[in-house]
Amino acid sequence: MLEIHDLHVSYGEVRALAGVSLTAERGSITSLIGANGAGKTTCLKAVSCLAPIQSGTVSFEGVRIDKMRPHQVAGLGIAHVPERGRLFPRMTVLQNILTGAYLRRDRSEIKRDVEAVFEQFPVLGERRSQIAKTLSGGEQQMLTLARATMSRPKLYMLDEPSLGLAPIIVAQVARQIERLADEGSGVVLVEQNARLALGLSETAYVLENGRISIEGESERLANDPHIQNAYLGAA
Ligand code: ATP
Repeated sequence: MLEIHDLHVSYGEVRALAGVSLTAERGSITSLIGANGAGKTTCLKAVSCLAPIQSGTVSFEGVRIDKMRPHQVAGLGIAHVPERGRLFPRMTVLQNILTGAYLRRDRSEIKRDVEAVFEQFPVLGERRSQIAKTLSGGEQQMLTLARATMSRPKLYMLDEPSLGLAPIIVAQVARQIERLADEGSGVVLVEQNARLALGLSETAYVLENGRISIEGESERLANDPHIQNAYLGAA
């Protein structure tokens, strides 16, 4: 459903992506792993038309999107969940969730989806009137995922959803990510936590200095000695 072909992105003199090609399918998790500064975030930003694309193409469901405006990309059903979520810290849990439905007009359906979200994330239901900035890190991450579901996206792009979370919370977030794909959406998962990403995804891409160095089935990559040494902390 998402096809990136030979993408080049530079921030002035800084070349962030140098010919990245990647595909992601519906109902499946595709991960993008790599060290700090490899270009992972830039890749997601380029899909959302938030990064300066120099050349290459991005298509979604067969339509070129690389020259669109960010809100048009979102309108096609791509939910970009940035690092640390960017919640509205002074708004309540419920208000934050409702901002995820800002492109929708179907009020009764929105109400139904909010209830479904609270069933799916009971801790958010209990805290629906709580101010977002007073939630724990894990709860805030759940809230960013919950908010993203409100636009009923076809594709989620998740930037470092495990960042700064305790292992037990990471496991909960991982279950929610799996559910998104199980329900039929595509998921592009950017992670520095390679172990988590390879465990969750079917297909993975390794980004090194703005280029894809290795790609393939996640299980195979997890057993690759180079990846084990470089990204999985093997001795
Ligand atoms: P991290 O995990 O640290 O977020 P990343 O793999 O997501 O890293 P990017 O944030 O995409 O990497 O950055 C890729 C390169 O582009 C880096 O060298 C970074 O310094 C540079 N870069 C990113 N954003 C900008 C910007 N707005 N202006 C200039 N350079 C930038």
